[in-house]
Amino acid sequence: MKLAEARDLDQSDAFATKRAQFKLPEGVVYLDGNSLGALPRGVEEAVQQLVTNQWGKSLIRGWNEHDWIDLPEKVASKLAPLLGTKAHCISCGDSTSLNVFKTLAAALSLRPARKIILSDTGNFPTDLYMAQGLSQLLAQGHELKTVAPEDVAEAIDESVAVLMLTQVDYRSGKLHPMAELTQKAQAVGALTLWDLAHSAGAFQVELDACNADFAVGCGYKYLNGGPGAPAFCYVAERHHKALASPLSGWMGHAAPFAFDHEYQPAEGVRRLRVGTPPILGLTALNRALDVYDGVDMQELRKKALALCDLFIEEVQTRCPQVELVGSKNRSAYGSQVSFRHESGYAIVQALIAEGVIGDFRAPNVMRFGFTPLYIGYEDTVKAAQTLQQVLEEELWRQPEYMTKAKVT
Ligand SMILES: *Cc1c(COP(=O)(O)O)cnc(C)c1O
Repeated sequence: MKLAEARDLDQSDAFATKRAQFKLPEGVVYLDGNSLGALPRGVEEAVQQLVTNQWGKSLIRGWNEHDWIDLPEKVASKLAPLLGTKAHCISCGDSTSLNVFKTLAAALSLRPARKIILSDTGNFPTDLYMAQGLSQLLAQGHELKTVAPEDVAEAIDESVAVLMLTQVDYRSGKLHPMAELTQKAQAVGALTLWDLAHSAGAFQVELDACNADFAVGCGYKYLNGGPGAPAFCYVAERHHKALASPLSGWMGHAAPFAFDHEYQPAEGVRRLRVGTPPILGLTALNRALDVYDGVDMQELRKKALALCDLFIEEVQTRCPQVELVGSKNRSAYGSQVSFRHESGYAIVQALIAEGVIGDFRAPNVMRFGFTPLYIGYEDTVKAAQTLQQVLEEELWRQPEYMTKAKVT
């Protein structure tokens, strides 16, 4: 596609005005919003206002005067429509890893006779690590069993306590069918725990309609909450009564300020709160979520697929050196496209030096996220052109692109 044609598509695009709601550096094509979302306008001011006026002036009175204490619920109410559920099923705070721990422990306690946590080998390592650590800690014979992503459905049997999956594979972008697998798991009496790290904010998630049991997700990827933003967890309403948090912190107590010596869980998902809510992070996330105001998630998904299709087509015609991960049927994928190359790390470094930011996932995957609120058709064509240049001119062979940084 010619750049002029891409520019025309950008002008007639339904999200043309959304891009202006983000602060993006000049000359950068940002294809890493799946790893750290861009900065929405208004977040800086919201955080500044919190720090200077609320914290700076109200001091401890801010908890009541500015309603900090209910900020997790406020954020939950903005997340709920994106996740296809109600605010009272979502608890906001802690990291995704910690939320995996809490929800997995809660799910296992609902299936005490079963010992298998079923997941797939494509799952994000932290989810697997948390399951391993929790099993050890429980010392009740729990076992994490992983199978290839395509073998999950047939591995579901009556030994499974919890089916724990990430809906969108972080490397390949492949989607697990949430409704189907949930139904299959529940048919044999297992519970489901879905990680929505690469789903929330990328497309409409349907937790209630899929009858999911538990879920967790990330605030700093498609939701643009900033580095280390608070994460969230979801518990289906039918599990609220029996819900047991393994981390019985005072903020999950029914009456934190009664300072009782005995732990009494708060109602519903509020008991998943552990310590004091992270108000700085929640303030940024709360403001960031406002960019979803008025966004039609079906349209968002349509544009994401159009951008992914365009990128694949452009890269495949320009760059025979790289191999598409997965297939061209993008409706079976999330909002990212991955290509394989044995020197993927160096190629991504060279691309970044040329102003196209993607990322690399070991062992050989170059990953490009498409966030339709601030990425357009022209960006997409430019990114493919730059990749072509990096490969044809072998710009990636410079020695400084070979050394891996701490964070990849
Ligand atoms: C990004 C990601 C996480 C991140 O976990 P943190 O605790 O925020 O570091 C967890 N799970 C998946 C599937 C992810 O993609």
